[in-house]
Amino acid sequence: MPSVAGSPKMPELPEVETTRRGIAPHVTGRRVVRIDVYDSRLRWPVPADLDARMRGRTIERVDRRSKYLLFHAGGAALLVHLGMTGSLRVFRDPPPRRTHDHVDIVLDDGTLLRYHDPRRFGAMLWIASSANGHPLLDALGPEPFDPAFDANYLWRMTRARRAPIKLALMDSHVVSGVGNIYANEALFRAGIRPTTRANRLSKARLGRLVATTRDVLQAAIAKGGSTLRDYVGSDGSAGYFQLEYFVYGRTGEPCRVCGTPIRQSRIGARSSFHCPHCQRA
Ligand SMILES: [Zn+2]
Repeated sequence: MPSVAGSPKMPELPEVETTRRGIAPHVTGRRVVRIDVYDSRLRWPVPADLDARMRGRTIERVDRRSKYLLFHAGGAALLVHLGMTGSLRVFRDPPPRRTHDHVDIVLDDGTLLRYHDPRRFGAMLWIASSANGHPLLDALGPEPFDPAFDANYLWRMTRARRAPIKLALMDSHVVSGVGNIYANEALFRAGIRPTTRANRLSKARLGRLVATTRDVLQAAIAKGGSTLRDYVGSDGSAGYFQLEYFVYGRTGEPCRVCGTPIRQSRIGARSSFHCPHCQRA
C-alpha cells in the first residue's frame, strides 16, 4: 500500500465510518458475555473495570462521532478510537491471538470483536451516561456532513484566523474529523492553496471548500463499501482502501488536471501537497 514517509495509512473519518458499517450488523442487538483486556496500555489506560461494567449489557447501536466509535449499551457507551494503527474485526470462529491483539469482546452468539493496535495510540473508554457526553466529544465542532457546517459558519469561524486555511480545516473545534489526507484533497478540489490565510478567503470560496470536503469524504466512504467484508473473519490487516489522490503523497508527480509538478510543504507538523497552478491562492 502506498504510504507517505514510510508511515502506514492512518484511519481517518472514512475508514472509521467503514469500520462502523462493517461491524455494526454483527454486534447490534448482541449481549456482551465478557471482555478480555490483554494489554490496557493504549493512549489512555483501558479502564480496569471495563469487563464488570459492560458484561451483560446489550449493544443497542454503533454510532460514529468524528473519528470515535460509540457502542451504546443501556444508557452508557463504550468509546473506541483507532488511533494511528488500530483496527476492529469480527470473528465467528476466532483464530489464536496475534501480537498486538489487545482487547477481545465476546458476544452471546459466540461472535468475537477484536481490537488490534500495534502502536497503541488508540483508546477504549467507558462513558457511564451517554446522555451526558464525554469531554473528548463535547469539544468537537460539527461533523462535515452536518448542515451546520456551511459557508456562513466557516466564514464566521475564520474571520479572526490569520493561520493557513488548512489548519482551520483540520481543527476539530471548527469541523470534526477532517484529517491530513482529506484536507489536502479538499483544498485541491476547491482550488485553494493550503497556506492561504483563512481570513483572506471569501464566503464563496469557503462554501466551495465545504462542498469539496464533503465530496472527498463521501467518495472515500463509498469506496470503503467495497471493503466491508474485510471486517469479518479475516485475519489480515485492516482492509483500508485508497482513493486515487490528486495531490496527497504525489510530490514531484504531474498534477492530474494541468500537469504541473505537485509541491510539498510543511504546515504545522504535517506534510501538505498542492499544485502551484491549480491552487494559486
Ligand atoms: Zn494543477
